[in-house]
Amino acid sequence: MKLKATLVALSLTAALQPAIAQEKVLNLYSARHYQTDDALYADFTKQTGIKINRIEGKEDELLERIRNEGSNSPADVLLTVDASRLAKARELGLFAPLQSKLLENRIPSHLRTAEWAAFSTRARMIVYNKARIQAVDVQNYADLANPKLKGKVCSRSGSHPYNLSLFASIIAHEGEAKAEELARGMVSNFARAPKGGDTDQIKAVAAGECGVAITNSYYVARLMRSTKPEDQKIMEQIGVVWPNQTSTGAHINVSGGGILKYAPNKAAGIKFLEYLASDQAQRYFADGNNEWPVVESAKVDNPALTKLGKFKADQLPVNSLAMYQVKAQMIFDRAGFK
Ligand code: FE
Repeated sequence: MKLKATLVALSLTAALQPAIAQEKVLNLYSARHYQTDDALYADFTKQTGIKINRIEGKEDELLERIRNEGSNSPADVLLTVDASRLAKARELGLFAPLQSKLLENRIPSHLRTAEWAAFSTRARMIVYNKARIQAVDVQNYADLANPKLKGKVCSRSGSHPYNLSLFASIIAHEGEAKAEELARGMVSNFARAPKGGDTDQIKAVAAGECGVAITNSYYVARLMRSTKPEDQKIMEQIGVVWPNQTSTGAHINVSGGGILKYAPNKAAGIKFLEYLASDQAQRYFADGNNEWPVVESAKVDNPALTKLGKFKADQLPVNSLAMYQVKAQMIFDRAGFK
């Protein structure tokens, strides 16, 4: 009798042990590499006792890695940037369904999907050279196609997710024909062939090589907060515009994440994503890259974001950005926006 009870107790312990061991570690695959995130993760461990094992990589490499690892993948959560990449992860079948009442309550519905949620937002804004361009001429994305700006528009590659997502939003709002007209107009206004990243466009605008360009907001905020004289000089030369304020609002993209299909520790994954939606985590998570929180009650204390001020943001569901990626690329191909 006694022996049997001991055996039962033993087998119970054996069955529970792996689950308990797993419960204590979360494998996070992240395309974010900000120092501020360290404090964020340490706080999660303090609150929950769950240690975070972080694997960092470039966005597309992480997707490839998770895909190659298949059902053996140790990854519980994927965090990455841009709705198009999150959509790609979903298309590849990498995510498990995301079910959390807390996330549904805290994150606005246009910023989440059935598989992943956004945790911070960034806007695509217009920067112009104050000596070469009148602000009134560059108030909308569509203005960049105006023949008046011939030889003055600069851009990073059309194939980059940031531009694909912007044009996906334009297709969603105005249809393919309008989007193609805008792409063609922009291409014929180019000061040079597309090259470099968003910061390179800002620098070229400040130097006067370009009159106007489009950039993600956090690159502007980063320069605004920089104490380097050369960065401050750049900011003196340029003006910044929130585009489409009398129509659709500025195009918004996101960083976000979801639980992976083969996550060994889905419960810890959910806990972690719910933690990211807490007021305090939201603030650090967004501020680490000069972005905005998705949770309305989360307060930001970021001098650059305060200085950039309030603006009308596009409310298009993040799912729509994913839906029109392929069409956006086809439009760029036809328009010669390389
Ligand atoms: Fe970026």
